[in-house]
Amino acid sequence: MPRRIARAADAPETLLDLTPSQARRRLAEWVSDRGLPRYRVDQLIARLWQRPVGSWTEATELPKGLRATLNAAVPLPRLNAEVVQTSSDGTRKYLWRLADGETIESVLIPAGKRRTLCVSSQAGCALGCVFCATGQMGFRRHLSPFEIVGQLREIVLARESDKPTNVVFMGMGEPFLNWPAVDRALTILNHAEGIGIGARH
Ligand code: SF4
Repeated sequence: MPRRIARAADAPETLLDLTPSQARRRLAEWVSDRGLPRYRVDQLIARLWQRPVGSWTEATELPKGLRATLNAAVPLPRLNAEVVQTSSDGTRKYLWRLADGETIESVLIPAGKRRTLCVSSQAGCALGCVFCATGQMGFRRHLSPFEIVGQLREIVLARESDKPTNVVFMGMGEPFLNWPAVDRALTILNHAEGIGIGARH
């Protein structure tokens, strides 16, 4: 039987799939529904992208009970770094394992003060360019906004000083064929309450 191709749309949308404005609205409702003080919204938003945590447990500025509630109600998804290879010039290649078992790649390229991260936007690719190993895999599925910007988030979680200064969509996949997720990922990358990387043309 052919293997079913999982789609990101099958997975529940997480806070990290939302633009920072959408996440702020979602968290404001969540905080209000529980009768919590409004300043909690700012604390929670900051832990999504600006000062990321691997799980709410690490957000020690929050009461312990609230952290446990957040882990249960709005858990923060992760990508699993299955392989990390560093070459002699400092270029680092990452192979990420996604929640459904698919794998994607990123490459972090340091050059002076710049650290450019090349991200994937799809698992596999439908375009089949003959020179490209990803093209020979065929299309597996689209990535969600989190699975795109999460490639950067995981690098920051591992070491904050590695935070990329530039992002290019030249990893696996054709970004314009996954535009809804790529569009949202670009907003997260650009937004002051997201990664805060300025747009360049
Ligand atoms: S990932 Fe890029 S180079 Fe490779 S098949 Fe797709 S479009 Fe072509």
